[in-house]
Amino acid sequence: MATSVTDLYGVNAFSDVVMRERLPKAVYKEIKAVQQGLMVLSLESANVVAAAMKDWAIERGATHYTHWFQPLTGATAEKHDSFIEPTGDGRVLMEFSGKALIQGEPDASSFPSGGLRDTFEARGYTAWDTTSPAFIKDATTGKILAIPTAFIGYHGQALDKKTPLLRSMDALSTQALRVLRALGNNTAKKVTTTVGPEQEYFLIDKEYFAKRPDLLLSGRTVFGAMPAKGQELDDHYFGAVQDRVAGFMKELNIELWKLGIDAKTQHNEVAPNQFELATIFNTSNVAADSNQLVMETMKKVAKRHDLVCLLHEKPFAGVNGSGKHNNWSMSSDDGQNLLEPGDTPHENAQFLLFAASVIKAVDMYAPLLRLGAANSGNDHRLGANEAPPAIISIFLGDLLTEIFEAIAKDGKLEAKEGGNLKLGANCLPDLPKDLTDRNRTSPFAFTGNKFEFRMCPSSDSISGANVVLNTAVADILMEVADRLEKASNITSEMTAIVKEYYNAHEKVVFNGNGYSDEWVAEAEKRGLPNLKSTVAVLPELIKDYSKNLFTKHKVFIEEEIVSRYNVYAEKYAKQINIEANVMVEMAKQQIAPAALEYASELASEVASIKEIVSVGTSTTEALISDIASNVETLLKETAVLETKIKEAQEKEEEGEYALAKAFRENVFTQMAKVREPGDCLEKLVAKEYWPFPTYEEMLFKM
Ligand code: ADP
Ligand code: MG
Repeated sequence: MATSVTDLYGVNAFSDVVMRERLPKAVYKEIKAVQQGLMVLSLESANVVAAAMKDWAIERGATHYTHWFQPLTGATAEKHDSFIEPTGDGRVLMEFSGKALIQGEPDASSFPSGGLRDTFEARGYTAWDTTSPAFIKDATTGKILAIPTAFIGYHGQALDKKTPLLRSMDALSTQALRVLRALGNNTAKKVTTTVGPEQEYFLIDKEYFAKRPDLLLSGRTVFGAMPAKGQELDDHYFGAVQDRVAGFMKELNIELWKLGIDAKTQHNEVAPNQFELATIFNTSNVAADSNQLVMETMKKVAKRHDLVCLLHEKPFAGVNGSGKHNNWSMSSDDGQNLLEPGDTPHENAQFLLFAASVIKAVDMYAPLLRLGAANSGNDHRLGANEAPPAIISIFLGDLLTEIFEAIAKDGKLEAKEGGNLKLGANCLPDLPKDLTDRNRTSPFAFTGNKFEFRMCPSSDSISGANVVLNTAVADILMEVADRLEKASNITSEMTAIVKEYYNAHEKVVFNGNGYSDEWVAEAEKRGLPNLKSTVAVLPELIKDYSKNLFTKHKVFIEEEIVSRYNVYAEKYAKQINIEANVMVEMAKQQIAPAALEYASELASEVASIKEIVSVGTSTTEALISDIASNVETLLKETAVLETKIKEAQEKEEEGEYALAKAFRENVFTQMAKVREPGDCLEKLVAKEYWPFPTYEEMLFKM
């Protein structure tokens, strides 16, 4: 590699630096104001930006552009338009107008809308998100200028993941600014939420992948017996990265750096063939866009190494699945991380106020936060012994807990002259910078200057979780601002708020082992919700408290909430439907025939041995009968599964949620009964007869 990282970094991103270089000063200034939400981009300026973008893209070999967006499928979508514009005399020009930059009109009819389009209109529009850099996509069809956009209906209804995320960021900014103003800050103009996602994934050889219909169609294995070795030795975690994977990681980093995505940390994860990539934190919407690109790029680069990247939350039973840690904080444009304990008493008091607000928000809206992490894949993880339980709790660490407890009892946040504040007598005068111990079992952990939400599913967009987090915290900050703005004594009101919030919501704070059974019992005593599946948590979305929260902060209108409820329920049902159908296919067309073939081969061998010698063959005959009876059970349970799939599908007329519920309660549960004899057979049938690659091959041979 001749080029240095600093040279190739960002070559494929129309970043801030590029805009500063290529745009006239006035237009660049206008873009900055637009990004800050202070004005709307004029068409003249849009034309200038579009022309600059087009020239930049064409220099990099692009022939097409696309409005890149994130429909509710969780993936990204794009439709490519070439820049060519016929001149009428047999030639073409390369054109890209401001209008085409700002707004697009993809055919929206086949994206999920959960009924929204029935109420409104079939058309959908994409609108440029000026705060997320455009980039060059290296597709097999050629290079494409990709413009990050929001996807909305005719009347502005959100049909995607980006729109509510941007709205929730605005909501938080509005309320956090009010709080800062009330505390005497006159410099900050905006508060942004920041996110650093840590992406987990598996790699397997593409030959194995191609031979597993379940992986191919559903992303996870629905059969597979545990090999003699699993992850019990913990010898993969942080181990040396083997050559083939190292080659993949190296290329992945380069591709991401070229896009201006800060791939930072990479390592082996706990399960065999499992890995993690963390990027440096960014503004939430940019982080969400980048994470989609990270997932796409992982898949693309893996192929070049004859590997397949599995992003499913639980591709293999019995070893850890994959998640995505969502490191979250808030920062003001005058340079403060609002969740960073500061150097002065004033900063520390402010930190405690924001931290207390987060504690209240997380406790009050725990079910919605849990919902933000729900999908069919994550149902295999949350509550199992590898990911945080389905119960939302907060880890503060001993020191911060002590501080909150001291204030909550009789401590004070005291004012110093000049409006400065210091912590009261019973508290530590200054908070040390790194005041957290590590706790890997908490779903929502304070880690020094941010909270880490650890429940997110590996395959999904991080937007959902962040929409909830931003809106929930905005809601509490609104309450704080209302109180502070009315208070005659800011200091005593701050103390009162921190005290009150901590006392009322301390039940959500838990510093112990979140994976233990004792915690589940303890959490129940504390009255914390334990919503174990997507189907259990989905109804929370359409409850009044949820509708009130999201509509109050203009993150969703009621129709959008209902539409999402329907879309997510339907998506869940479809996923289980695919998994169940592929299971039926594998049981009937692969496992049963292979096992019977082997059994009859054994039987004919037994018969021929008996003709020659008179040794006992009872053990072999027992094996044959064991195989036969497992095949029998397999086929019986498969028949039941088929019936249950049909019955569940009939629930469609009762609505998407009824459909999802039927798939969870009847189909998903029956799948375990089919799997058991299937996995038994894998251990009984000779290896060369087994019809698809085993866990041993997929996880340990690469
Ligand atoms: P760890 O000790 O868990 O490895 P790091 O400090 O390396 O934690 O950060 C982990 C992730 O948190 C990274 O993605 C990092 O960019 C992100 N992060 C750090 N600071 C912030 C912040 N202020 N807001 C959001 N994410 C952050
Ligand atoms: Mg982490």
